[in-house]
Amino acid sequence: MSNIHFQEKFEDRHNGPRSVETREMLEFLGVDSLDQLIEQTVPAQIRAKQALQLPAALSEVAYLKRVKQIAEKNKVFKSYIGQGYFDVILPGVIQRNVFENPGWYTQYTPYQAEIAQGRLQALLNFQTVICDLTGLEIANASLLDEATAAAEGMFMLYSARKNKAANVFLVSENAYPQTIDVLRTRALSFGIELRIEAISEDSLTDDVFAAFVQYPAADGSIIDYKAFTAAAHAKNITVCAAADLMSLTLLTPPGEWGADVVVGNSQRFGVPMGFGGPHAAFFATKDAFKRNIPGRIIGVTTDSNGNYALRMALQTREQHIRRDKASSNICTAQALLAIMASFYAVYHGPQGIKNIASRIHDLAQLLDQAVQQLGYTQLNKNYFDTVRFELGGEVAGLKSEALNNEMNFNYVGSVVGISIDESTTYEDILTIVKVFAKVKAKNLADVDFESIEASLTSALPADLVRTSDYLTHPVFNSYHSESEMLRYIKSLEAKDLSLCHSMIPLGSCTMKLNATAEMTPVTWANFGGLHPFAPADQTSGYMQLIGELNDWLSEITGFAKMSFQPNSGAQGEYAGLMVIRAYHESRGDHNRNICLIPASAHGTNPASASMAGLKVVVVKCDDRGNIDVEDLKVKAAEHAANLNSFMVTYPSTHGVFEEPIIEICEIIHANGGQVYMDGANMNAQVGLTSPGRIGADVCHLNLHKTFCIPHGGGGPGMGPIGVAAHLVPFLPNHEVVEVSGEEGITAVSAAPFGSASILIISHAYIAMMGGDGLTNATKTAILNANYIKARLENHYPVLYSGVNGRCAHEMILDCRAYKNVGVEVADIAKRLMDYSFHAPTVSFPVAGTLMVEPTESESKAELDRFCDALIAIRQEVAAVEAGDVDQADNVLKNAPHTASVVTADEWTRSYSRQTAAYPLAYLKDRKFWPSVGRVNDSQGDRTLICSCPSIEEYAEA
Ligand SMILES: *Cc1c(COP(=O)(O)O)cnc(C)c1O
Repeated sequence: MSNIHFQEKFEDRHNGPRSVETREMLEFLGVDSLDQLIEQTVPAQIRAKQALQLPAALSEVAYLKRVKQIAEKNKVFKSYIGQGYFDVILPGVIQRNVFENPGWYTQYTPYQAEIAQGRLQALLNFQTVICDLTGLEIANASLLDEATAAAEGMFMLYSARKNKAANVFLVSENAYPQTIDVLRTRALSFGIELRIEAISEDSLTDDVFAAFVQYPAADGSIIDYKAFTAAAHAKNITVCAAADLMSLTLLTPPGEWGADVVVGNSQRFGVPMGFGGPHAAFFATKDAFKRNIPGRIIGVTTDSNGNYALRMALQTREQHIRRDKASSNICTAQALLAIMASFYAVYHGPQGIKNIASRIHDLAQLLDQAVQQLGYTQLNKNYFDTVRFELGGEVAGLKSEALNNEMNFNYVGSVVGISIDESTTYEDILTIVKVFAKVKAKNLADVDFESIEASLTSALPADLVRTSDYLTHPVFNSYHSESEMLRYIKSLEAKDLSLCHSMIPLGSCTMKLNATAEMTPVTWANFGGLHPFAPADQTSGYMQLIGELNDWLSEITGFAKMSFQPNSGAQGEYAGLMVIRAYHESRGDHNRNICLIPASAHGTNPASASMAGLKVVVVKCDDRGNIDVEDLKVKAAEHAANLNSFMVTYPSTHGVFEEPIIEICEIIHANGGQVYMDGANMNAQVGLTSPGRIGADVCHLNLHKTFCIPHGGGGPGMGPIGVAAHLVPFLPNHEVVEVSGEEGITAVSAAPFGSASILIISHAYIAMMGGDGLTNATKTAILNANYIKARLENHYPVLYSGVNGRCAHEMILDCRAYKNVGVEVADIAKRLMDYSFHAPTVSFPVAGTLMVEPTESESKAELDRFCDALIAIRQEVAAVEAGDVDQADNVLKNAPHTASVVTADEWTRSYSRQTAAYPLAYLKDRKFWPSVGRVNDSQGDRTLICSCPSIEEYAEA
């Protein structure tokens, strides 16, 4: 027999268990086959009738070859379009050691602070960069994009408005069109009126609650808003500014001229354009608004040993706790990209960044004057990086000459805008000037470059030149050689537990393998270097990739079409609900505003519903954790006249395939509502059933859960929505790039395809798995979960299961009983760190419990290690229950144990150092040391420090 046709299957690398392990696990569960287990788990009435119709699986090598061909269909022209997206130089030390490094990109959101100090520090650095450059007091750790950050600013200022009768948000018409588009969408559901005009002090009428300006403005001009802002404040009107981070090294920061909120994109700090994302937006404001800021904030506190430690602050503001009362639905944000931007600032330091900004400014001036010498008129009196020339009848000629030279400009009528960035060179300026010369039948010799260069001054307004310092903290002034930088990055990485160390069994978060072959193409220039508004004939590679992904995900979800605009799951929820709203409106149903949501729903569901202007009515769950169908019937009927939608997670957040799900959808439809399915648990559905088959109308997919985009320590993500045919016309459109029809809702994200560049990861996953591979992954995820359940259920009560006693892809371990002896679920979570594991999801959806989701990517060996750890911890709890150890001084209460505690000269604990740090044998081989002891949450919230503190400040606190 020949082996010539042997081919390695990617599926065998993605799925953890070897076939012998699968057999052992099935035997342990007492079933004959995987299919038998699935029959016991997934209700027959929802099971798919046929296999997924997807192209045959490709090997890793074959996929990379194919995606290279797709990449080559993209044309990477020099981009001078600007409009919020700029070409960058990503320092190699950051590209290789952060962007392309699983030690950074596979981390989870830093809820378990003690094993996340590295990224918490990097995010604190990010907040410090933002506060320093904007001149404001507090900044969050990233938002999804500049346009949604502006919308969050609008909503925060609306909620905090002094004059409750005012409902006008005054928007400068000289703001980016995509930002205005997203503001339109968000304004709609709150009855906020957007007034878009050429703003002046006369615009500040009594009905205005806040104003929005762009700095520098969308056309590149720099406008002084000092007097405008003072006049606004005198009338109790607040001001939100969108600002360009790079320009703020040279310009008076908005905080200094009075802005109340400053938002923007940090993309310019070393993050590739990626055809629209992902990038980290920022949000900074005054201290007075700190409890209302959307998104996550990192704060300084101390650990149990009194040492400096970081953690996420003020979490009580978030949607997890406040639900429909939350100030925002933001959950996944852009942590990895914020971390990259922060490292860019650390690497270059204040002087380095100022040098970069000054070069940009000088090249822009050179271009300005050179082109003027050719006889053109430049329209921006003051500018940072963008000049605009009036072309009259010469537009077409210039455009075609620019394209011949592979350059994209920003054309608006008879005016062309050119934005200079960090990557622009002197030679690039010559090329641009040559193009302008050619149109007038001139050449470079007609321009006196030497005298222009010798007499360059500044095109910034004299009274908006920055005088204040920034980035003075030592962290931005210590690591400017590559060796120092590399070691700084590695020192932070070493503090963080990621998928490089062990499984991260977070229920509802699906921390599966992020394969190298899936990640590799993301940093190719042919994907990274494209501007989201590049001409269509340069983006056919992306169009092919997005088109294929649309077809594949439509097949997987059973829907007619996808929208790739939402750049997180919560954003998908919001987009889906707005689509449903537009559908109802199109049928003359203007009053449908009730959204039914089960009590067990994720906090983003009610938060998104309220952002979409809906009123949330909670549906009960029964004591088996299932939706109470009787209660649903009553509430659906009661609200039939106004029923908008029902939001349901499937399988449920309790980890169960609820049997009556089809009936549930029918009840909603019969009462005039639409069914919104939260697709966070798609990993239990793919290939076995689908939202379309079950009867849902819309569903978002968390591509960063089910479809292999890594979590990045809290983002990026992608939350595309799939919809049934009747909703297709209402999918989001985009002001700059048409992506939907006339009836499409206005934009939900800044970029037409959201964070387009990471769609490659999901494309790769599906292409390499194929239909059977994906289905096997789902079955294996269910097998792994049921194996853990079977191993642990004699030690921990498992809450809820299906009719045959099986769980879906996750399960809930009940830890509430141990409270009687003072052991909290948090103690178990922290003790798991001593066993080198990340805790499962704590207290969601049920307080006092752990929700475990192993995913298909973990081997039996890893599952066993995890089960051994949890069983050992259960015995430690038992010792407390039996009264053998003290309720206050025990391994659980004192966890996690740091190396410095365990190796200290003094040891006064009632147990041994070995028990503290090496409770099981495998740890001798694989020990991950938490870098700090238990962090003090309440202290950190009492004295909030959200940027890098000086030593004195820290000592005082
Ligand atoms: C993760 C999750 C969300 C939110 O998704 P993000 O991408 O974090 O915004 C919503 N619902 C459920 C059930 C989830 O698990």
